[in-house]
Amino acid sequence: MTNRPKPFFCGNWKLFGTRAESLALATGVRDGVAGITAADVGISPGFVVLAAVAEAMKGSNLLVSAQDGYWEEKGAFTGQVSMGQIADSGASCVIIGHSERRQLFGETDATVAQKVRAALKHNLLPIVCVGETLDERDTNKTLSVVSTQLDGAFTDLPPTELEKCVVAYEPVWAIGTGRNATPAQAVEVHASIRSQLRKTLGDKAAAFRILYGGSVKPDNVAGLLCEAEINGALVGGASLTVDSFVKLVKEGTAACTRS
Ligand code: PEP
Repeated sequence: MTNRPKPFFCGNWKLFGTRAESLALATGVRDGVAGITAADVGISPGFVVLAAVAEAMKGSNLLVSAQDGYWEEKGAFTGQVSMGQIADSGASCVIIGHSERRQLFGETDATVAQKVRAALKHNLLPIVCVGETLDERDTNKTLSVVSTQLDGAFTDLPPTELEKCVVAYEPVWAIGTGRNATPAQAVEVHASIRSQLRKTLGDKAAAFRILYGGSVKPDNVAGLLCEAEINGALVGGASLTVDSFVKLVKEGTAACTRS
């Protein structure tokens, strides 16, 4: 594949971290990846520490992401955080449609679509998550499920907006389970996602970043990232300590550079 994009490794801290723990983790990751120019690296702290972490990371090459965001700008929506507020906090990315949000909090393809548009309006980089359950994989529905999620997220989005997004393929059965997809399983789905994106983006689909997520660790990231179809990783558990995340980023970046 030509035009292989620069890889992107993004940690998803989920519901972990006090203010002090989050700042210490962010600072350690920032310092650990400071010399890396061949990859983009991000972290996704919880909402209450997002602004503090973004402020502390200013001037570094570490991207700060929210884990979710709401599509309305303002109003009577108790508990929600708007994309405008996220941008105002200093973050530059937002994870949208994570399977935990779809499964536990009723997120649908329609809400994902609204969030993608709102994020783009505020110049946030949307990291749009798609992926099948184990039952869907076992009944050979993986490619159709992912295709429907992709269509739902990006319906009617002009190519100039679509190319500003990132997709994370995260098989639900691989998230937090220690059971990751094989490189071949991931490549099959990534290739299918890219061919769907090609319908809107044409040749530019080659430079579109499709990340893999699901139990990526320092010792399995190289096997995934040496595949040209895999352009980075969304990482939960292994992003929660400095050593493991920095090692993962270094191993993944080196694998990309070698292949
Ligand atoms: C995730 O939270 O998106 C994720 C992939 O988690 P883990 O790496 O722990 O499987």
